[in-house]
Amino acid sequence: MTKKKLALEVIERLKKEYPDAGCTLDYNDAWKLLVSVRLAAQCTDARVNVVVQDLYAKYPTVEALAAAEAEDIERIVRPCGLGKSKARDISACMKILKEKYDGKVPRDFDALLKLPGVGRKSANLIMGDVFGEPAIVTDTHCIRLVNRIGLVDGIKEPKKVEMELWKIIPPKEGSDFCHRLVYHGREVCTARTKPYCSKCCLADICAKERI
Ligand code: SF4
Repeated sequence: MTKKKLALEVIERLKKEYPDAGCTLDYNDAWKLLVSVRLAAQCTDARVNVVVQDLYAKYPTVEALAAAEAEDIERIVRPCGLGKSKARDISACMKILKEKYDGKVPRDFDALLKLPGVGRKSANLIMGDVFGEPAIVTDTHCIRLVNRIGLVDGIKEPKKVEMELWKIIPPKEGSDFCHRLVYHGREVCTARTKPYCSKCCLADICAKERI
């Protein structure tokens, strides 16, 4: 089977398995997803979802957060780890949104990439989830699973994985596909235990490569 055909089959099977898979970070405004995504580095989405409640209770708008001292933001986001650099990025990012984009999140991948603390993974997540644009989010689950399944061959560098996936994943499927990989990676094709291949919906088509 070609990688393209394999990709289409994997997409269809994961759709059946996780029909409602979406972003596991809670947000009701684009700028809040930007904040959460920064906080989620080396932290669980569940913890981020709790911590941001305190943050938005105190700073409910882009303007309020842009005006906050980075030290005050740090005090609240510290439970997510890396508090100092996350607070500094969030503060700088909100200031740019306020001053350059009228408090809005730009609908432009390259503009997103220029925001403090925003890398390709985050920019793709925003493009896909907020704006419904084609997106490939290469987080740790995505990278592990696409290698194991055989959609890419021994590639661990996130940007390289993303570029390989763009060649074989239909653009409109990318965002949901990556969300479903997260669900599958947490529940079945796990990182810390041996993957549960015997109960996996991809078992008969997966290369089961170990990386
Ligand atoms: S068959 Fe095994 S290695 Fe392949 S995706 Fe399923 S759990 Fe992961």
